[in-house]
Amino acid sequence: MEKLSPGGQVLLTDLVENYPGFPDGISGFELVDRMKRQAENFGLNIQARQVVQLDLSPDRKQVVTDDGTLETKALILTSGATPRKLSIEGEDRLTGKGVSYCATCDGPFYRDQEVAVVGGGDTAVEEALFLTRFASKVHLIHRRDELRATKLLQERAFSQEKMQFAWDSIPTRILGDPAVEAIELKNVKTGDLSRLRVEGVFVFIGYDPNNELVKGQLELDSQGFVLTNNDLETSVSGVFAAGDIRSKMLRQISTAVGEGATAAFAAERYLENMP
Ligand code: NAP
Repeated sequence: MEKLSPGGQVLLTDLVENYPGFPDGISGFELVDRMKRQAENFGLNIQARQVVQLDLSPDRKQVVTDDGTLETKALILTSGATPRKLSIEGEDRLTGKGVSYCATCDGPFYRDQEVAVVGGGDTAVEEALFLTRFASKVHLIHRRDELRATKLLQERAFSQEKMQFAWDSIPTRILGDPAVEAIELKNVKTGDLSRLRVEGVFVFIGYDPNNELVKGQLELDSQGFVLTNNDLETSVSGVFAAGDIRSKMLRQISTAVGEGATAAFAAERYLENMP
């Protein structure tokens, strides 16, 4: 069951470079399309329905959707994660007017303009590099003086002429009316405030788990991701989890795919062993 279209965050990724079998990379959209067609060839039935409530217990699993209620014996949760917000002044007001969480969607609007990217992880650096195709300058704003992103991405970023780095800095306000004109930064070491004139602000500071349907029903880690055992079973027997919703070290397409296979196999075995 899928509320929009299958693929989730991968659909928003311009180029996937680290999924095996595609030495030249593949667009996120195409990768999802291929996976979907392959799964459908094996009989997968994809339904466009939004799940609005889950009632999970070892004996009964009820899935309430916007189009009817189902009762199921086993369930695999793959609800993923959502980009985190900065929660600063101007962010909500200017979302869609210069503030964005998707470089693939909005990057081309910033041809020959200056933009800021907030964050220092893989996503921030990858998306900042993508934005250098359009923008005249990309300012990467990071709260420390060292990036979290993998070495390969760091090296690319440091050798890209259009990239500028604002270290030890956090955004305090996004300014502009009716659209983004500048971002206010605070140096966390000195406390100094400064302004950077940019037309776009792209926020990539991590993800929050989409756990609303299972909060209070499944055991979660301190950040709200779903805890599972080695067979990807959650704290409720017969309920499995895979992908970004799960508590784990590495969130990549390749890890999600492997977990999908494990969870499906474990769910099948669970059904076979039921009295
Ligand atoms: P992430 O690894 O959690 O990094 C978030 C970044 O944002 C960190 O640099 C963090 O700073 C910063 N940050 C967090 N909260 C902030 C705040 N309130 N204000 C300012 N900065 C803040 O998230 P991600 O980069 O989105 O990656 C998520 C997962 O997906 C990771 O496991 C990543 O490896 C994976 N991923 C992989 C690929 C790939 O394999 N090509 C691509 C994209 C993502 P600190 O560094 O100081 O904590």
